[in-house]
Amino acid sequence: MIDVTTPRIEIDLAKIAHNAEKLKRLYGSRGICVTGVTKVVCGDPRIAGVLVKSGIHTLGDSRITNIRRMREAGIQAQFVLLRTPIPSQAESVVKYADISLNSELSVVKMLSKFAVNNNTAHKVILMVESGDLREGLMPSDLEDAVQEVLLLEGIELAGIGTNLACFGGIKPDEEKMEYLSSLAGDIEERFGLSLEIVSGGNSANYTWFVSGGNTGRINNLRLGESIYLGCETLYRTPIPGLYTDAFMLIAEVIESKIKPSIPYGEVCQDAFGNVPGFKDHGQIRRVILGVGLQDVPVSGLTPLLDIDILGASGDHVIMNAKKEGLKTGDEVVFDLNYGALLSVMTSPYVSKRYVNSI
Ligand SMILES: *Cc1c(COP(=O)(O)O)cnc(C)c1O
Repeated sequence: MIDVTTPRIEIDLAKIAHNAEKLKRLYGSRGICVTGVTKVVCGDPRIAGVLVKSGIHTLGDSRITNIRRMREAGIQAQFVLLRTPIPSQAESVVKYADISLNSELSVVKMLSKFAVNNNTAHKVILMVESGDLREGLMPSDLEDAVQEVLLLEGIELAGIGTNLACFGGIKPDEEKMEYLSSLAGDIEERFGLSLEIVSGGNSANYTWFVSGGNTGRINNLRLGESIYLGCETLYRTPIPGLYTDAFMLIAEVIESKIKPSIPYGEVCQDAFGNVPGFKDHGQIRRVILGVGLQDVPVSGLTPLLDIDILGASGDHVIMNAKKEGLKTGDEVVFDLNYGALLSVMTSPYVSKRYVNSI
């Protein structure tokens, strides 16, 4: 049955497949394998299946709930837990993830204990801080950590990695990548081993990659946004040849009337405790949509029509319809940014409709 209720997100599976294949081929051309990141789509098995069909055989997610969802739906892939494990979830991490990114030895020790108990092996990638100041061991602590990890039963050191452009907005440039490569070389030399994975970052690494320098030891990137939204993430520039419109939010007009552009009466606080201010455009066509801040951060939406978002409350978006003759029941289509996509995919109030299945 086709779901035509609103609000709904329309997910073009063929466009996602196209983006995934293109990125896999692009990065693969210089020895970098892609981990497909599924967290923004909550581990949606239909989308995860598309990534696997596109040739991406390792999937990464920040949440064990999502990894479990994909496993239980029968997705055949290697699963990587991207967020440093929550200590109280260590047992599930070993149970559902093949690999996890780690920055705390105490947690790796817990993973070791559960791996031994369950008679399995769990792989870890040690994350190194390189300036963005989210997760990671300080580089000066890395060799000691490696030494300890190598002694842990049930744990295999799969490699090292870093993450940039997330918290601090720091660019993964040639210098940062060369430094990570040199750390990998140092570890291999000191411990006489070979690291399977040197994971250089995320969708923000595109600019570094296409600048054409040496990729050094970097042989993996973890990609989410560039697959789904077709852009790099330092400047949010579209990547040539990729679709930027694989996801569209559709909302519906619930009221359409000519009204003033400025509220009248004594101005106090609005629903969220702010005192609003408005520009006077005289009488305008005000349109209300049946979607609101409980569904999506409205600032992350861009309408395809030439109409303006005036504001939102929990359940309403209020728009100036300008010259568009929108009436009750009409559908209004929006482009979404990453934050908006995340909320919409997470919301039980927004229905999901898949188009162009592959
Ligand atoms: C979310 C995440 C990614 C993917 O980031 P994108 O910008 O969506 O490509 C990669 N690595 C880690 C550790 C993450 O948490």
